[in-house]
Amino acid sequence: MGVPLIAHAVVLGGSVAGSLAARVLSPACERVTVVDRDDLFGPVEPRQAAPQGHHIHALLARGQQILEELFPGFTDELVAGGVPIGDFGTSLSWYFNGQMIRKAETGLVCVASGRPLLESRVRARVRALANVTYRERTDIVGLVASPDRQRIAGVRVQGRAPGAPEEVLDADLVVDTTGRGSRTPLWLEELGYQRVPEERVKMDLTYTTMDFRGPLSFDPIGEDIALLPVATPAQPRGAIFARMPDRYAVSLTGILGDRPPTDHEGFLAYVQSLPVPEIYKAVRDAEPMGPAASFRFPASIRRRYDRLARTPDGLIVLGDAACVFNPVYGQGMTVAAMSARLLGEHVLSGPPAPRAFFRDLSRLIDAPWDMSAGADLGFPGVVGRRTAKVRMGNLYIPRLQAAAAHDGVLTTAFLRSAGLVDPPQALMRPAIISRVLRSRR
Ligand SMILES: Cc1cc2nc3c(=O)[nH]c(=O)nc-3n(C[C@H](O)[C@H](O)[C@H](O)COP(=O)(O)OP(=O)(O)OC[C@H]3O[C@@H](n4cnc5c(N)ncnc54)[C@H](O)[C@@H]3O)c2cc1C
Repeated sequence: MGVPLIAHAVVLGGSVAGSLAARVLSPACERVTVVDRDDLFGPVEPRQAAPQGHHIHALLARGQQILEELFPGFTDELVAGGVPIGDFGTSLSWYFNGQMIRKAETGLVCVASGRPLLESRVRARVRALANVTYRERTDIVGLVASPDRQRIAGVRVQGRAPGAPEEVLDADLVVDTTGRGSRTPLWLEELGYQRVPEERVKMDLTYTTMDFRGPLSFDPIGEDIALLPVATPAQPRGAIFARMPDRYAVSLTGILGDRPPTDHEGFLAYVQSLPVPEIYKAVRDAEPMGPAASFRFPASIRRRYDRLARTPDGLIVLGDAACVFNPVYGQGMTVAAMSARLLGEHVLSGPPAPRAFFRDLSRLIDAPWDMSAGADLGFPGVVGRRTAKVRMGNLYIPRLQAAAAHDGVLTTAFLRSAGLVDPPQALMRPAIISRVLRSRR
């Protein structure tokens, strides 16, 4: 390998996006430091600063492919640790409006590890890289700019131990992956930059998850991975019932103020109201493994760094810090992986040019954003801009899903697109459209 091109990169946040960013920066940098406020190498369980870890996290097919590419043997390692895997088209039962789409082999691998395990395996691989260091239990307090404010030259951090002094980490590149609460927009404004434009789609989603001990007296999935009644405008209550390495988990979703309760009785009543009865039959007599966890998610937010007239050199933003997707579509970790991969391409020939990176990142985010934000806008009452493209998608996709109940080719096409392996335009190919139309006749 040649001389490293970037002397020191500092990654803000050591979660999924941060660890993947460190992985791709490692070959291009002399040193990479990852800073996070949490205890990152403790027990494999939901972390305080990433409370979403209590909820079922699906890794979409494209995400699995990228993790395998970045960490060869990653999937086998999970399987050896007892993680169930299967095919997205045959090991998961997908229901739309109470109707299951036909099962079909897709060749797309689904790993049902749960979020804490997945994240900890990624981090373990990155920590093993000789030039990457994690600084845990350290708050990121602010950015340090060059005197002319044209470049970000470091980060102010402070250890969480009582009395720990604030210090500056000098950096040739700073990558913000601090998630949905990222303060970079605020810090840039303080440095005299324009406010980062945002797009929001407000759906007021609540996620409530309860874990159950197996075995179950009624098991609707056997050796399969999950059963998913997906929320639709006609049936807005959604759920995921999943087999995990050591338990069964049920995540319930409600939107526009419909909140799946956290008490056992209320939780079961909500499960009973789902359009698919199997989950209720499975858990009505099952033993909960603890209290339910709930997460309120007011809106999807896309931060348009690509639309800033000026950005400082030496600063990149990705992961939830750049775009927070509605979690029901399971896109966040996969888009983080795709974005890290993009960063890897941008550092091949030297320090990345932020404007070029943000332009390419925006192109990458367009498809998943259109898919999930567009689908949310199919729910009357969700606030956001309904373009002609959004309205057309919301007429066509439900028809495709209904047709997929009888046509496995449509199942495969849909799951490849929803899994971010194929672009959404793949669903508009004449061969697919004609199958949808034929099925209606
Ligand atoms: C209920 C729910 C369910 C979800 N389900 C899925 C799913 O099925 N599939 C999927 O792909 N995605 C899912 N997501 C989204 C997924 O969790 C995120 O997309 C993913 O975690 C983004 O990773 P990240 O690294 O960008 O941010 P995060 O995971 O949020 O990590 C940010 C990190 O930054 C650190 N940090 C933040 N601020 C500071 C600071 N000032 N100082 C020091 N450290 C700081 C935090 O400690 C944290 O470790 C779900 C989200 C929710 C809320």
